Amino acid sequence: MCYAIPGKVVGIKDNIVTVDYFGEKKKAKNDFYSLERGEYVYAQGGFVVQKVSIQEAESILDTWKELFFQLQKTDLKLAQNPKTLYQRANYIRNKYLGNACCIHGIIEFSNYCRCDCLYCGIRKSNSELLRYRMEPDEIVNGAVEAAKNLGFKALVLQSGEDLWYDDDKLVEIINKIREKAALLLVLSIGERDVKTYKKLYKTGARGVLLRFETSNASLYQKLRPKHKLEDRIELLKKLREVGYLIFTGFLIGLPGQTKEDIDNDIKLTASLGTDMFSFGPFLPHPQTPLGKYPAPSLDAVLSIIANTRLANPEAKILVTTALETLDKENGMKFGLLAGGNSLMINLTPQKYQRLYDIYPDRVGIEEDISRRIDSTIKLLHSLGRAPADLGL
Ligand code: SAM
Repeated sequence: MCYAIPGKVVGIKDNIVTVDYFGEKKKAKNDFYSLERGEYVYAQGGFVVQKVSIQEAESILDTWKELFFQLQKTDLKLAQNPKTLYQRANYIRNKYLGNACCIHGIIEFSNYCRCDCLYCGIRKSNSELLRYRMEPDEIVNGAVEAAKNLGFKALVLQSGEDLWYDDDKLVEIINKIREKAALLLVLSIGERDVKTYKKLYKTGARGVLLRFETSNASLYQKLRPKHKLEDRIELLKKLREVGYLIFTGFLIGLPGQTKEDIDNDIKLTASLGTDMFSFGPFLPHPQTPLGKYPAPSLDAVLSIIANTRLANPEAKILVTTALETLDKENGMKFGLLAGGNSLMINLTPQKYQRLYDIYPDRVGIEEDISRRIDSTIKLLHSLGRAPADLGL
């Protein structure tokens, strides 16, 4: 069972509900269920994912009650007396958002990509990479397994920019997942027509993960040949208008990136009304033109997380797999203690994981998924983080 607890609906205004988790109240958007006060839901990322019977919810909450308050105490203790930059960020995170922490699953369903980004190991020019595509039913089965057997409530479906998955295939995949499982579905499929995204929203997808990579337009164009930053930003704005939750951000440590760029990256992420900040270190891939550049230091990444938290007290900030890869032992822990409050766990079938080679030696590759979930939950317990939703 993964990390999520149901909350009680205590307020309803149009499609926004207030959900109570042992006295902590969070707002969530409700698009799919008819709800009344006193009923229970699972929410993720500020979105109602599932309605739960009162009996089932009360029995789950009963098992959580003692632990929930213990976790709150642990987190509060770790967030007290802030002195360093990281501690101040952790203090602010605790003050504004409490100890809630979201865990999303991610399935990387294809490593084909029509783009040629200079930093990315799955760029189309990397002829050494063995390519794979998951069949639609394989993706559906993976998503249903994530929801039903592993208990995930939010799932990112990610791929290179692979047009083999046309509108019909994507609609079929989302429809089938929604028929069988309750999940917040987040698409990370790159730049597609707004028309396509509208269709997928109508089918039930509710989030988009699409980084703008860098706010420096000329650097962007150098790193993403034939692409323009303004198109990416325009798309993100339109997708927000469609109603999608927006997960976006940038890469840290790109060759040619300045400190001023990073300051602008943080500001741009916030100004887009981002629902989940997703930024992580650039990790050099040997089969790319940037393979010989260094990765940024752990401290550089953590201080950017911390500064982002201080500037955006209520942000949801993802601790990315790239940060975990940068420091396999402590990346996740340090990210959570420097202002982060969300995580992703890779649920891609093991036989494909190594092939989704955006950067080398990714953390968790081919590790047993249950073991990875268990060690993550253990870490969250040690830091006092609870699976209540972070709210809108
Ligand atoms: N096609 C989708 C898109 O364009 O957003 C999703 C796939 S893309 C490979 C996912 C993310 O991987 C990118 O947004 C980029 O930030 C990240 N990425 C690619 N190469 C990387 C590298 N060498 N180091 C760290 N992150 C990298």
